[in-house]
Amino acid sequence: MTPTPPPVAHSHFRPSVAPRLAPILPDPDVVVIGAGAAGIAAARRLVERGVSVAVLEARDRVGGRLVTTMLRGHAVDLGGHWLHAGPINPLVRLAEARREPLRVAAQESHLWVGRRRARREEERALGRAFALADRAMTEHAARNGPDRPAASVIPPGLGPWGERVALVHGLVSGRALSEVSLQDFPSMEYGDNRFIAGGYGGYLARLAQGLPIALDSPVRRIGWSEAGVSVETSGGRTTRAKAAIVTLPMMVLRDENLFAQALPTAHRNAIDGFSTGIYEHAVLHWPSCPFRGPDRLASVVGGRRKPPGLLTRIDGTPFHFFEIDVHGAAELDAARSGPDGVRRLVRSVLAEHFGCRALHDLAIPAVSEWRHDPWSRGSWAVVPPGHAEARALLHRPVEDRIWFAGEALSRLQWGTAGGAYEEGSRAADEVAARLSRGAALRPL
Ligand SMILES: Cc1cc2nc3c(=O)[nH]c(=O)nc-3n(C[C@H](O)[C@H](O)[C@H](O)COP(=O)(O)OP(=O)(O)OC[C@H]3O[C@@H](n4cnc5c(N)ncnc54)[C@H](O)[C@@H]3O)c2cc1C
Repeated sequence: MTPTPPPVAHSHFRPSVAPRLAPILPDPDVVVIGAGAAGIAAARRLVERGVSVAVLEARDRVGGRLVTTMLRGHAVDLGGHWLHAGPINPLVRLAEARREPLRVAAQESHLWVGRRRARREEERALGRAFALADRAMTEHAARNGPDRPAASVIPPGLGPWGERVALVHGLVSGRALSEVSLQDFPSMEYGDNRFIAGGYGGYLARLAQGLPIALDSPVRRIGWSEAGVSVETSGGRTTRAKAAIVTLPMMVLRDENLFAQALPTAHRNAIDGFSTGIYEHAVLHWPSCPFRGPDRLASVVGGRRKPPGLLTRIDGTPFHFFEIDVHGAAELDAARSGPDGVRRLVRSVLAEHFGCRALHDLAIPAVSEWRHDPWSRGSWAVVPPGHAEARALLHRPVEDRIWFAGEALSRLQWGTAGGAYEEGSRAADEVAARLSRGAALRPL
């Protein structure tokens, strides 16, 4: 028997929404593996199209890397929180149609230098540095030359603000820009972000209402043949179907050998070439935080440590995210300090900039550890230089039996729940079209 992995810090929190799920059928047309954004999208689309589906999910909840919990009476996301790319994000379109409580993300942000608020000229200099760096990356990527690290085209003359820009872009890409593909990074449509009251995880969980999903069903083996697919869970149960949609994080597919046969080399290389994106939240409850206004980003610079960023006063509450990037996480892991090490780090950074007395009412009720979570093994998949074709390549099904979906396959919304949802719907449409032609039943 596979030993049960030790629980990670964020798994102790119960989700704010537990949808009522339908039992799964023993012989569905399609088996969907994973009930995150991509899996839920795929299942919804297949049900809409009248295709029978069973979803197998390892965790005891739906939502994957989106989960909302209740802390002190407020809904707080422990994973994804922003609905990025409003105009092209299917979860924004769906929320609008359902009249969900969306709000537009604030454009204003805070800049704090050492122990004081930034001056106007400092704010302007930072804004200029972002604009120059973003333009350089977009223009170089559009030239379509040989791929190289995104960091290599950041203009050298940005002064001290260049370092800040690289840090923020490193945070949102999940790795330092020196390890990120220039062809891939600027493809993301980031603008026009939204939030949703009640949390992104709560919203996604509501979308799973009534779907046939089996929880606590970790998949251990995925096989395929002319007859279809067979998917074995750790309880020893085998589900047979005509096709499978695999929505597992690339880091899980890379590190676990779940396929009974060898995948085609191109697929295997595409999966193995992704690197692990790291982005973690420390959730602060800090009523007297000096930053005012709901949902403002904050940059705190000029100290010994270089925190990559905060999101302050989430939905106007006393809750804030203090973000941990790949470097911060590596240092914490090297010191084996766990969630309490994160708490000490946050306190020491904030004390340096705001003074110890300002922290009298600070509590840090939750810390995420997605990088240690066996069902995610990171926050999202990152394309390193030279690997930019991987997302498109994984759109190809394997022998008309196995389709892939999930955040890693989206080019315009990489690393996001919106991208994952889009990809889940795409894969479901393709499988449904194939099944309606009867092709998945014919010998290959
Ligand atoms: C801290 C953090 C902050 C983020 N911030 C944002 C944000 O603000 N906005 C945004 O859009 N995105 C954000 N993201 C990324 C976003 O959460 C993901 O891109 C998205 O949720 C991925 O969806 P998915 O369906 O591809 O994968 P997942 O949500 O990971 O779903 C895959 C599912 O497969 C399950 N699974 C894994 N292994 C097995 C197995 N062997 N058998 C069965 N099931 C298995 C998992 O439990 C999971 O439920 C953030 C992520 C993190 C970690």
